[in-house]
Amino acid sequence: MAEKSFKYVILGGGVAAGYAAREFAKQGVQPGELAVISKEAVAPYERPALSKAYLFPESPARLPGFHACVGSGGERLLPEWYKEKGIELILSTEIVKADLPGKTLISADGKSFKYQILIIATGSTVIKLIDFGVQGADAKNIFYLREIDDADKLIEAIKAKKNGKAVIVGGGYIGLELGAALRINNLDVKMVYPEPWCMPRLFTAGIAAFYEGYYANKGIKIIKGTVAVGFSTNSNGEVTEVKLKDGNVLGADIVVVGVGGRPLTTLFKGQVEEEKGGIKTDGFFKTSVPDVYAVGDVATFPLKLYDENRRVEHVDHARKSAEQAVKAIKASEEGKSIDVYDYLPFFYSRAFDLSWQFYGDNVGDTVLFGDSNPATPKAKFGSYWIKDGKVVGAFLEGGTPEENKAIANVARVQPPVESLDQLAKEGLSFASKI
Ligand code: FAD
Repeated sequence: MAEKSFKYVILGGGVAAGYAAREFAKQGVQPGELAVISKEAVAPYERPALSKAYLFPESPARLPGFHACVGSGGERLLPEWYKEKGIELILSTEIVKADLPGKTLISADGKSFKYQILIIATGSTVIKLIDFGVQGADAKNIFYLREIDDADKLIEAIKAKKNGKAVIVGGGYIGLELGAALRINNLDVKMVYPEPWCMPRLFTAGIAAFYEGYYANKGIKIIKGTVAVGFSTNSNGEVTEVKLKDGNVLGADIVVVGVGGRPLTTLFKGQVEEEKGGIKTDGFFKTSVPDVYAVGDVATFPLKLYDENRRVEHVDHARKSAEQAVKAIKASEEGKSIDVYDYLPFFYSRAFDLSWQFYGDNVGDTVLFGDSNPATPKAKFGSYWIKDGKVVGAFLEGGTPEENKAIANVARVQPPVESLDQLAKEGLSFASKI
């Protein structure tokens, strides 16, 4: 069996992998010491682009334009960069077995990779309707979006079904971003989700009302309180209809499903401690197994600010956790220590000409501020979350870079609030003066 051996192996070739590789290069890595193993065929890239500019009908984003680390304003790491640094990019290679005690990974094509230190960066996979046994869910033109190959298939379908009908199943951020992208591509778009409003895990009813109104104004029909229970197909096996639980039937040439993800931890089951569905780590992303680290979507780590272990499935954390793990590895080799990870949760989304940012924790009471009328051009509004008399979370649509910085600062500082009415009245200016 072919065998290769490295000092460091990053398993996964997504966002965290790209930022970890850059940090290794910054800290100093010898040629041949580091390998990145990915089942994708391309070097690490900024995954959020897939549901945004990658799908635009005009001047879409394409690789190599959005390789990591451009998403955070950093250097774009092209395949040549890895070569120059002596970092081995092992692409189109799926690891199917991980033997953590034996420090060995085995690929689907039977290759064996030994390591001294492993960083697990396998990210998430999508939850599929087939997993729930939804009738007809294996029809052609039902899409999911996680990797660049998925996006390419969706683009082919958009071209083949010009001006056709699209149904989006799921009202999370993937559903909202894809609903917008398909509408921009001139498809007739309907969205279906069971919850009373979109993005219910983050949005309040007040926030969601703005986006739902805005989408309606763009001609997107939103159907709430029901789910897809089956699909009809034509003689080619292509989807033609989405059957809903409430008895309605929607015509569809393309269906995109965004009903959530699941961290890819199966390779390590029984070998490493898990918590909250992820691989448990400390504040340096060290797992329960010596010399094994886990970063990005798969890590359940101590969120110092809230004194709680959490898993975070956002790009900003993927980047920062990767950097933290590499810094910790390098420091421990030199007998030094670094500060524990002190993360302020940050999440953003963009669709149409909208753009929002959220910082902190969405728990407690909420106040809505600003102009959240969906008919207002360039509406600017937000929300604060208040717990135990302190602002712990902040959301802002349409903020300038300075305003976004101000709401991030509020979520970090957690200033006390005396009156919710007063806070609602002050709105953004409350954040700006902290
Ligand atoms: P990933 O980037 O998913 O990388 C995992 C890598 O591991 C992949 O390359 C995968 O192929 C590889 N892999 C997995 N298993 C194996 C195996 N067995 N063998 C070999 N390779 C393997 N977050 C935001 O904050 N804002 C956004 O706007 C936003 N938009 C998004 C849009 C889309 C379409 C998606 C899918 C996600 C979006 N996210 C967004 C979430 C964000 O992209 C993720 O949190 C981030 O990519 C996680 O980084 P990661 O490195 O942990 O995992």
